[in-house]
Amino acid sequence: MCTKLPAPRATCVLEVNAIQTIVCILTLHGANASFSTPSGRRLKGEIVAERNPRIQPDLIDTLFLRASFRVGRTSITQLSDGVVVAPRRNWFNSIEPSEWMPALGLSDPDTPFPVNFGGFLVQNGESTTLFDCGVGPQAEEFFPGIREGGHFLSRLDESGVEPGDIDRVVISHLHIDHCGHLVARGGDLTFPRAEVWVHEREIAYWNSEAAASNIQPGEIRRYLDAVTAAGLLRPYRDEFELTTGIRLVPASGHTPGHTAMLVESEGECALLLGDAVHHWLHFEHPTWLQSYDVEPPVSVATRTSLFDRAVASDAIVTAVHMPILTLGRLTSVADSFKYHAL
Ligand SMILES: [Zn+2]
Repeated sequence: MCTKLPAPRATCVLEVNAIQTIVCILTLHGANASFSTPSGRRLKGEIVAERNPRIQPDLIDTLFLRASFRVGRTSITQLSDGVVVAPRRNWFNSIEPSEWMPALGLSDPDTPFPVNFGGFLVQNGESTTLFDCGVGPQAEEFFPGIREGGHFLSRLDESGVEPGDIDRVVISHLHIDHCGHLVARGGDLTFPRAEVWVHEREIAYWNSEAAASNIQPGEIRRYLDAVTAAGLLRPYRDEFELTTGIRLVPASGHTPGHTAMLVESEGECALLLGDAVHHWLHFEHPTWLQSYDVEPPVSVATRTSLFDRAVASDAIVTAVHMPILTLGRLTSVADSFKYHAL
């Protein structure tokens, strides 16, 4: 188990490219924030910066498509598979807009938010693991208007990793925006030798009638069948260490077999939260649920448990749908939590 760290910033280091193009580190809640992308690619357009609690449309060039940070000796790279900018009332489905809008300084509940899709590349020196793999080659079909959609493999290539290098893919849950690149358009496995780890409850759910009203159940079953036929599906049940410093943490609620990933190295750690969190406000309001959660009461309990764990271990917390990179730490306050952006 990782331990408390005295200097949080020391563990959060953007990967700088050869020409050292990082020009600014974001202030926690400051008004001025600008930086260039480590990958040399930057999404331009109407993207708004979400790190500032008051969304500022003038901060439009601040979204990375790929960026890395370190946990001890382990490198974690978030890879985008596209960005959609749209209203997100459904991220705060359990409450009235009048409750969540003031926390963001908003007056319009239909203010657009950026939502990133993709996954995380975790390299611990022994093996190469993906935690989720984006929307997939049908990105535009599933999310019309998505920008840079379906380019996850390009982001992987920019990281110097080929699909055949991937040892395992851990799927947080089987919504299409998390497992979309498991199977290529022609039906072949995208990562030809990668084990695919999915919680056994998740597999059972998507093979049941209960999933009929969820998102693209037929497509999900096709993916599962392809991975199973290749002998690469790896169901699991309880929390365990998948490989050195990478633990799978069952975190049901969003879906029955939803899973988080805890990465530990040299006393430092990061908790990758899947879809337990969509916006940093969820850290401070674990009961503010989004609309896709299959088991809402379980989601609240799971979030609280995950956040308690993050506080106890001083873990960096992040999740795939937040803009790259949205890193923070949590502390306990009263009966909730305080989010501290890094
Ligand atoms: Zn999702």
